[in-house]
Formats: sequence, C-alpha cells, structure tokens
Amino acid sequence: MSFTNLGLSAEVLQGIHAMGYVDPTPIQLRAIPLVLAGKDVIGSAQTGTGKTAAFALPLLTKLAKGNRITRALILEPTRELAAQVETAIRDFARFTDIKVAVMFGGVGYGRQREALKEGTDVIVATPGRLLDHIGQGLCRLDMLEYLVLDEADRMLDMGFLPDVRKIVQRCRKERQTCLFSATVPPEIESLIKWTMQNPQTVEIGQRRSPAETVKHVIYQVAEDQKSDLLRAILDQVQYESVIIFCRTKHRADRIGSLLKKNNHAVAILHSNRTQREREQALKGFRDGRYEVLVATDIAARGLDVADVSHVINYDVPHHPEDYVHRIGRTGRAQATGDAFTLMVAEDAKHVASIERFIGVKIERTKLENFNYRYTALFEEAKDQRTSNEKRVRGVRLSGGYFCGPVKRRKR
Ligand code: AMP
Repeated sequence: MSFTNLGLSAEVLQGIHAMGYVDPTPIQLRAIPLVLAGKDVIGSAQTGTGKTAAFALPLLTKLAKGNRITRALILEPTRELAAQVETAIRDFARFTDIKVAVMFGGVGYGRQREALKEGTDVIVATPGRLLDHIGQGLCRLDMLEYLVLDEADRMLDMGFLPDVRKIVQRCRKERQTCLFSATVPPEIESLIKWTMQNPQTVEIGQRRSPAETVKHVIYQVAEDQKSDLLRAILDQVQYESVIIFCRTKHRADRIGSLLKKNNHAVAILHSNRTQREREQALKGFRDGRYEVLVATDIAARGLDVADVSHVINYDVPHHPEDYVHRIGRTGRAQATGDAFTLMVAEDAKHVASIERFIGVKIERTKLENFNYRYTALFEEAKDQRTSNEKRVRGVRLSGGYFCGPVKRRKR
C-alpha cells in the first residue's frame, strides 16, 4: 500500500514525495487512517518506526489551511526532540500555508514570543517553556483541535507529567488526542484515561523489543579496563558513526576527552551543555563531521540521527526501558546496526532485568587481541556445565554471571 491510498491531502503527499518517502511504515499504515477518522490514538511504538509522520501527516491533512490560530499542539520531552519534530513537520507542510513554531527552554524568549504574536497553526513544545508563554498570556489553547503527547513515558521519567496536566487543562475539551509511548507504565495509563476518549491502540511489533535489525552483544570487562576496551573496540570495529551512552554527564565528558585525545572526531551531548553547544554537537554528528557522539540518556532520547551504525553502552542503563531507547538509535528504519554493552560485575542485576524486559538473552562476547586482566569473566562462556559445577574462583552473581575477582598478571 502506498501513501496515495491513505486519504492524505495532495499538498501533504507532495511534501512526503519531496522527503523521498516511498512506502508508509507499519505504524503510518495503521495510525494515519485512524487519525484521519478523528479517533484518539495511542501509538505504542519505539522511535525509529516513523511515528512522527504517523501523526503529523494526518494532522496536516486535517488542518488543511493555515489561519494562524493554534489548532495543533505537540508536546515533547526534550528540546532536541522538539526541534527535530518541528523540522520534520515543516518539511511535510512545505507545500501548505500552515505555520509551525517551536518553543523550548534554554534559549531566549524573543523569537518564540514573536512567533506567538504573529500567530501559528502548529506548536511543537517542551512543557516548561510552553507554560511560561501561557502564564504570560502569549499562548492560548482554547481553539486547539489536536493534541499530541509524544514520548509520554520519557515525559514521566523527567518529571514533566504535572506540567503536562496543567497544559491539558488549558486545552479545548472537544479535541482529538494522540499519545505515543514506547512503554505504558501505570502513570501513563492514568494520563490516557484522563486525556483521551475511547482511544484506539496501534501497537507495532512487540512493545518491548528493540529494533529487530539490531545485533546486540555484551562485553564483560573489569571497571578499570573499561576505557581501554572501549578504545580497542573503536579501533577494531568497522563503524560509520557511533553513539556512546554514559550514565552521567561527568562520565560523558571524561570519555569524550579521552577519545578526542585518541584522535577520534567526538561530539558530546548532555544537559549541562548550552543549547548552542548541543545544537552544534548534533548538527556536526548528523553532517558526519563527528564520527562519535558521547551522550547521556536524557540528552539523546528519541533523537533522529540517521545511519548510526553502532550504539555502545559504556554504562549499562539502570532502567531496562533506557536500553530499548538507546538501542533504538541504531537499526533505524530497517537499516542494520550493532549495539555493544560494556558490563562490569556490579551490572549483573541490571543486565538480568534488561534481558527479562526484552525477553532475550544477550550474547556475551570477547574482543580478540585485547589483553583482559580478569579472565574469570569468561568462564561462563567457555564452560556450558551448570554453574555450581564450575571451578571458577569468581563470585557467583544472580543470573549465572561470573564476574571477577581473579586477577591475572598482565601478559
Ligand atoms: P521517527 O520514528 O519518526 O523518528 O522516524 C525515524 C526515521 O525514519 C526518520 O529519519 C524519518 O525521516 C524516517 N522515515 C519515517 N517514515 C518513513 C517512510 N515512510 N519512508 C522512509 N523513511 C521514513
């Protein structure tokens, strides 16, 4: 089925054509007719599935003509996502006269105020800044027809739900609402009950599975060899572009500087960097000026960066959902990608919960030609006998992982 049979307007079809899209993705096929039919839609799909177009194309078709009254609002958890979604919608809308504006924090108010004063049909915003504009009487949502809550689970994680609720209270009651979320925890269930009417659910693939085209493996390693292993992986693996995830901003900075010293072209993305630095990092990475992007979860959530060949989890995420989101950066839109996770002994519990969450045991692997000092890490892979038969002087951890502490002399 092609886009032409879905009921989208000629102008929107022209926009899609100019973007080079040929066939709709599964979520687009299923969500577009529902949104066009005026239904409230819950999209349970991971990023990379084409969900932006799934809601934006029918909304633009329904808005049809611009009249500079805010009729559609899309809430996003981060500034980068807001900017990314606004760019996509502008592209889709380029053959219409619909006006799109973006509002997020970390930058001056001037341009956003001007855009609101001039009037805009669509607003893409993060909750905090939008509330500021509402508080200052610059933005009204009483004529709103369409509300999209994108990446709702991340808005919850980031503590934005109270702000989201305040915004929803300002929206016109007679409206159509769409909500997208890779996972649907109880708080999101209650948000759904509160904001939506008789919603239809569009679930693409298994709710929890990372993109199927991704091959993922775990490298077990001791904490003090982690950065050496990372450098060795980058030396040995053929990659085009790689995102490295770290648990904290400090670790991201440290790994970023280390790799720069090793002559990698590196961009760093985390929330302590200024908006300008973040934009430059992303643009440089997208343009191919940087081959490596070192990022924290929050900064990188949902970013659409095309052709990421590898994701490396320098730190194992503590929330299984974050693993799925991180891995969502590669294997996007049916390309194949690789996801590597560096795992230390203390991570066993988190790895076990990730494996439970995604329903797959992730393959353990060992980097050739790397001088591992703690060889007890690999006993499990070598010896397939039951764990208690193993003659390993390591510590048995839950889930059958054997990690350290048998220190071998450096070869
Ligand atoms: P999203 O999940 O909305 O972030 O989209 C992921 C990526 O897939 C973006 O780079 C989109 O431009 C791209 N994309 C979305 N829909 C299609 C499509 N039907 N054909 C080709 N690429 C698409």
